[in-house]
Amino acid sequence: MKISLRWRILATLVPLLLLLAIQGAGGAILLYRLSGHIDAILRENYRSVVYMERLNEALERIDSSFKFALADREDQGRKQYEANWVAFDENLRLEQENITLPGEADLVDQLAQLSQAYRKQGKAFYARPSGDSERKHDYFGGKDRPGLLDRFNEIKEVSAQILRINQQNMGDASQEAKDTAAASLSWFALGMAATVLLAGLLTWHTVYTILHPIRAVTSSALGISAGNLDQLVPAVSNDELGQLAIAFNLMARHLRDFRQSQSHQLLRAQRTSQATIDSFPDAVLVIDAEGEVEMANPAARRLLGAIPKQQGQAAAGLWQPPEPLRQPLADALQGSTDYLPEGFDRVILLGPNGQECAVLPRIMTIRDPYGHTLGAAVVLHDVTRLRLLDQVKSNLVATASHELKTPLTSVRLAVHLLLEETVGPLSPKQTELLIDARENCERLLAMVNNLLDLARLEQGWQQLAIQPEAPTTLLQAAADAIRPRADDMGIDIAVEVPSGLPALSVDTERIKHALGNLLDNALTYTERGGRVTLSAAADGEAVVLTVADTGCGIPPEYLPHVFDKFFRVPGQSRGGTGLGLAIVHEVVVAHTGSVSCESRPGEGTAFRLRLPAAPVDPAVNDGPTQADGTGVPQH
Ligand code: ADP
Repeated sequence: MKISLRWRILATLVPLLLLLAIQGAGGAILLYRLSGHIDAILRENYRSVVYMERLNEALERIDSSFKFALADREDQGRKQYEANWVAFDENLRLEQENITLPGEADLVDQLAQLSQAYRKQGKAFYARPSGDSERKHDYFGGKDRPGLLDRFNEIKEVSAQILRINQQNMGDASQEAKDTAAASLSWFALGMAATVLLAGLLTWHTVYTILHPIRAVTSSALGISAGNLDQLVPAVSNDELGQLAIAFNLMARHLRDFRQSQSHQLLRAQRTSQATIDSFPDAVLVIDAEGEVEMANPAARRLLGAIPKQQGQAAAGLWQPPEPLRQPLADALQGSTDYLPEGFDRVILLGPNGQECAVLPRIMTIRDPYGHTLGAAVVLHDVTRLRLLDQVKSNLVATASHELKTPLTSVRLAVHLLLEETVGPLSPKQTELLIDARENCERLLAMVNNLLDLARLEQGWQQLAIQPEAPTTLLQAAADAIRPRADDMGIDIAVEVPSGLPALSVDTERIKHALGNLLDNALTYTERGGRVTLSAAADGEAVVLTVADTGCGIPPEYLPHVFDKFFRVPGQSRGGTGLGLAIVHEVVVAHTGSVSCESRPGEGTAFRLRLPAAPVDPAVNDGPTQADGTGVPQH
């Protein structure tokens, strides 16, 4: 049968209330009985006592009326006699109606008979004339007959007996009441103890039967929250708690089913993703937040020997990435930056001999939807072939440029000689054609020179002649070289270098070349009346040189490509080869520095060259090597 929790609570409370009511009623009955008993004693016996006392008093007065008569105070005696018989009769009558004790009726009858005899003798007494000597005889009696005084004593004796038995009964009844009260109290206490015991048992039972299933559900819920879904709460009762247990078990089953289906899905997703990354020809690694390899495709295992931890072969310690990847990987795991280099300068060589495979690393932070870093994905893009091709192309370009340069120089010389008319006069048409030829020759030579420079830089043919150089000197020299052209174009050139900057550790000629390219562009893309500013600032262990102009700017979509070879912003009418910024990039990278470009179309462009500062030589100067030259060791 289904008993609800409400009924069970009621089933506990109702008996408790009933017990309370019974206990209360029992107490009330006992009290009532006790009070009734006392009341009866007071009402019945006490009245008899009062009647007898009043009767006695009347008797005394009747007796004293005879004494008055004997003392010749006839009138007073008679009056008192008559008056007190009324009181006497009244109390005798009341006593006759209030007979309550065994033997009391006989005594009252005896009293009535004696009273009658006494009355008869009293009448005879007062029938005699006043002062009659027989009156004394009537009163005191003689040997032949009892006198009024004897009767008086007898009545007094009987009334005293009636009084005594009533008083005796009052005492007995009082004792009985005391005994009854004591017994009632004991019973009441016993009942109370039984009630408390029963109430305690009922309460304990109810609390236990309610709390036990709740505890079971609580411990199972805790188990589920700890990940153990194999929880079963026994449905001990048929009430709401039983339903709770059933609902809980149902929830746990659904959770189990859900986890199972989720696990299947997860397993499938994991297999799919594993198969996907396994199919990549490039090495792919997934690193967890602790730096352990979570997934690695066969290419990665071949290349790095990295074993994912879930393959059971307990990864002894964390995976040790190749040296150049350590810092970028640590940065990515801290969630700060992705590492996505594009140039061949960031290529790392991996393999047994360090020469087998050239890879371009790409490290991306993996985040959950809330932005917490879960790990990092490392892709090692195999660029061995591309790099080889690039080298072949660079060699080809370098060789071709080199081969072109000599004939081009002699063509240029010949054109110059012709234009100087050392070999003969020229017609205006011939001069015009030759001027055109000279311009093209100059442009071609500049391009060939640029290509040669680039090839040399890319292939590291030319060793850098690193030396400390004050930023002011460098910027001032670059500005001075371009100033005549700037003056012609009506563009203001300014150099702004704060004092106390550390010296740069650079190949002066190369940096001058790079600055020259930047300034050349700045003048080319700035209108008359504009301004080009060269400035320098310290940045940690580096110095940043900036070339900023107020020119036409570069649209944001082309900014990522400005350092690419042969890149020119589309629609650009001004002449150029698209190699100037590529050379700048190569020069800066060769110095282990970096270059960046900021631009707002219509407002201007700023190129920033971050170059290493010269190390401080404490023997020469206490402070950092100063840009004004005071602390710079001269070579
Ligand atoms: P180019 O020989 O064409 O100047 P660069 O490599 O020096 O080749 O520059 C690449 C392209 O970047 C240029 O064609 C030009 O569109 C753009 N550029 C370079 N510097 C500036 C500048 N200071 N202001 C505006 N555009 C610039």
